Formats: sequence, structure tokens, C-alpha cells
Amino acid sequence: MENTAQHTDMIRTEAQRIGFGFVGFARAEYLDEEARRLETWLRQGAHGRMSYMENYFDLRVDPSKLVPGAKTVICLTFNYFNPEKQQDPEAPKISRYAYGEDYHAVVKDRLHDLLAYIQSEIGEVSGRCFVDSAPVMEREWAQRAGLGWNGRNTLTINPKRGSYFFLAEIICDLPLLYDEPLRDHCGTCRRCIDACPTEAISPEGYFLDASKCISYLTIELRDEIPPEFRGKMDHWMFGCDVCQDVCPWNRFSEKHAEPAFEPHPDLLQLSKHDWQELTEESFGKVFKKSAVKRVKYAGLKRNIDFLEK
Ligand code: SF4
Ligand code: SF4
Repeated sequence: MENTAQHTDMIRTEAQRIGFGFVGFARAEYLDEEARRLETWLRQGAHGRMSYMENYFDLRVDPSKLVPGAKTVICLTFNYFNPEKQQDPEAPKISRYAYGEDYHAVVKDRLHDLLAYIQSEIGEVSGRCFVDSAPVMEREWAQRAGLGWNGRNTLTINPKRGSYFFLAEIICDLPLLYDEPLRDHCGTCRRCIDACPTEAISPEGYFLDASKCISYLTIELRDEIPPEFRGKMDHWMFGCDVCQDVCPWNRFSEKHAEPAFEPHPDLLQLSKHDWQELTEESFGKVFKKSAVKRVKYAGLKRNIDFLEK
């Protein structure tokens, strides 16, 4: 027990030293209730065409299938909040998380550093690192590890910092001291539900029809955006921050300290006209290391053009 407490402290301290914000620990066990909720969500087709969400069901709900003998899910947050906005209020908008370099690479590197630290300072520990990775139910683990509650907008909300952070996990076979889940503090608030431009959040919240969400429509959907969303996109060309911007808990957000998340110098300056005239060359320059590259030039053009229809 003494060692367990010491190991837990060591990992928390090192994680924060290398740039993570909040660190919590959950017992790696079968996600029973969450498995049932995921089944319902899939059955209702709320995942749209993200068919990969149907895969790996047994891996998602059972961490020991990802790491044999798993004891702990180490859950971490990595702040990406940047209060700066695009200068032209009419420019098509990009979600804050995509301002800088692709978070998958940035955060994954830090996770590997943390796992290497655990293995060198604590001993032979088997573990795997995950950032926004399909087989891990990140928000459920974050809630169990006391990092926040899952709000009506379905995002993890931390009472001290809101929701502008990435979630990351190390699943490992090292037993640690486990945190208590936080209770829900959404109370009577419904701002995210009322503000969502496409009514993607269910009337009572806590359920997102991803097939209606602007993030899905602008990033995940490969086909044409369905015409029913014309005029409803609120000028978003990549992702959407509305249900976070209106969340009262995000008044506690503070600017990130990660140089890799600083936007390319042109990103916030480009005018509506610049975006409409965007060339493949400028796209390659502005989004060189960005997660936006995922939709490629043609995908971003499709989104920009859709806003004008
Ligand atoms: S990201 Fe935008 S479209 Fe998606 S649920 Fe939130 S407010 Fe609605
Ligand atoms: S906007 Fe209100 S209801 Fe929505 S997640 Fe934030 S606190 Fe909860």
C-alpha cells in the first residue's frame, strides 16, 4: 500500500511536469453500464457513417483485452485552450483544438515519455498509450478517474478548467490508488442544448446524435454534406466549439502552455475572401502539421463551399 501510494504520487508529479493538466486513476475493469449505453447509441445509428465505432466492441468495454492483466487506467488531460479568435468575424471558423500541430502526435509523445518514466523508475510495467483512439472509451474512464463529469454536451467537464482539453490514457498492469468519480454539476443548465446549431444534442442532453454534429459533418463525413444542414453550420468549416463556448464552466479555461499548439501565423489572419480563394499550396503551408490535413484540401474546400450555398 505504501508503495502504491508512492507510485501514484510519482506518476502524478511526473505527468504534470511533462505538460499534462489533471491526472486521475481508475481501476481497469469491465465497463458494464457504459457497454449498454454504447450499444443503445450504436443501435440508434447516432454514429452516422463512422462505422469504425461498431468495431472492437469487446476491446472498448474491457481494458484487459488491450493490456493483458490491466490493473489501472491512468487518465490525463492536456490543455489546448487558446482565447485568440480568427480576426475576420465573417471568416469560416475552425475549432480551437485544431489551431496548432496535430494533437495525436504531440500528446502521444508525452504519453510515451510518461510510460518510459514509469518503467525506468518503478520497474517492469506493461502499458499502452492512447489519445483519441477508437478502442478506448475516454470520457467514461475520465469520469471514473475523477477528472470531470460527462456534461449534457457529452464532453468531460472539469470544475476547475471546463472542457478545452484532450483526454489521454495509459492502460497498465501496475496497481495504483484509485480516485473517486465526480458528481454531475450541470444542474438546471441547458445552454449547450439550446445553442447547438444543428440540434445534435438530445432534448435532455447527455446524448449526441453525431450524425447531426458539425464536427462529424465537417471532419468525419466523406460524402457531400446533406442539404438539410444548409444555413445551419454557423460558419464552421472544421469542427465546432459552440457547445463548449456557451458552457459556463469554460469561464475557468486558461491558455495552454504548449508551443506546438500555437497557430500558424496566417491562420487567424485569413479573411473570408482568403479562405474562399484558398489554394492547395496555401493549405499545405498553413496546415503543414495540423489535424486539419486529415480532411485534405478537397475536404476543407467542400466545407467552405457548403457554407456559401
Ligand atoms: S460541436 Fe457544435 S454541432 Fe456538435 S453538438 Fe456541439 S454545438 Fe452541436
Ligand atoms: S452548457 Fe450547461 S448543460 Fe451543457 S455541459 Fe455545460 S454546464 Fe452542462
